[in-house]
Amino acid sequence: MQESEKILMIGYDEIGLKGNNRRDFINRLISHISHAAHIPQKDLEHRQGRIYGNFSQERKPEIFNRLTKIFGIKWFSEAELLPHSYEQLQEAALKAAKVKKKQGAETFKIETRRSNKDFELNSRQINVQLGDEVRINAEMQVDVHTPDVTFFVEVRRDHIYLYTDPHDGPGGLPVGSNGSVLLLISGGIDSPVAAWHLMKRGLAVDCVYFHSPPYTGEKALEKVRNLVRVLSQWNIESMQLFVPYFTGIQEQMVEEMPESIWTVAQRRYMHRIADRLLERESYHGLATGDSVGQVASQTLENLQQIDQSTDTLVLRPLTGFDKDEIISIAKEIGSFEISIQPYEDCCVLFAPGNPSTRVKGDRLAYEERKLDDDALIEEALTRMQVENYSGYKDQYEMS
Ligand code: ATP
Ligand code: MG
Repeated sequence: MQESEKILMIGYDEIGLKGNNRRDFINRLISHISHAAHIPQKDLEHRQGRIYGNFSQERKPEIFNRLTKIFGIKWFSEAELLPHSYEQLQEAALKAAKVKKKQGAETFKIETRRSNKDFELNSRQINVQLGDEVRINAEMQVDVHTPDVTFFVEVRRDHIYLYTDPHDGPGGLPVGSNGSVLLLISGGIDSPVAAWHLMKRGLAVDCVYFHSPPYTGEKALEKVRNLVRVLSQWNIESMQLFVPYFTGIQEQMVEEMPESIWTVAQRRYMHRIADRLLERESYHGLATGDSVGQVASQTLENLQQIDQSTDTLVLRPLTGFDKDEIISIAKEIGSFEISIQPYEDCCVLFAPGNPSTRVKGDRLAYEERKLDDDALIEEALTRMQVENYSGYKDQYEMS
């Protein structure tokens, strides 16, 4: 990299990273940045706890937009790369201050960190000297508590870096660093938010949506596709959507089983079918958007019955969240507006008037024997659609 040019500077959270984990984390993060922000790997470099990148100014808005969706990034900024010379730092800071002043900034502070102890001035001396320079020559006032602009100076082993306005990244861990799960997605508000939390903890997510044509229409399916498109932006590679054919199971269920157990029974079938996909595609577990106690299917007794339908790990990342916390994340990630479209999924259409909140295991086993399970599950899988989405490639359309 040449000196005195603008480069991209990316910070990550090192807490809890050691040895091989740390190396994997960094390599994965660099490869995600390269893939999602379209920066060639050769233009990305890791030095002393930061990732640096070369980029062209025309691509800045696009690159910055993508960086906000790469888990593992704590913050990022455009930075000026300078040699170890106080004069050049002063010149660059003054230039930057004059630009900020023109844009309306009245107050500032300098925040210096020095890891290179050989540099002629220490952090405090840089703060004071550079502060005086900017105050006098750019005619701005110092405000250390709520400045209009902060000039960050980092004196590191290789260079001095000067930057303002760092942007927040989404934090978390790089997607895939902790394995992969298959999420049961409905068109509702909760399951997309569950997907986002799972990805944030380093899990790659694919989705399965149980569709019951003609009872659930193409619009309900399209709504789920749009949710998957939005979510796929965080999944780096792309996101698969499995759409098993659920009509057969629901039709027999309505014929054969008492209404009060439909809610739990259909969820048990969903988990069994999802479990077959899990074996086939080698996910580490299933996940749902359940939280405890909102509806009949979410009492602890019923959740237990749902979990006993398979031997598989089922993650429920929203268990500890209130509805308004879930809604606020849905709005932030852009799924909320899609989720509130009025096309109902199959659970709503086959919802009993008075669902049991405590279905007993032996009762379920007895009722389920009435269904032609194996054939129905087989049919659900053979008539399944498999789709692949990448939010960056597919133009996202609301229908
Ligand atoms: P959501 O907002 O995610 O729909 P919810 O609060 O409406 O959740 P339910 O409708 O009982 O609750 O669904 C609970 C969970 O069951 C969902 O979060 C999802 O994981 C799964 N689920 C429900 N319906 C479907 C479906 N048609 N296909 C796949 N998963 C489903
Ligand atoms: Mg729902």
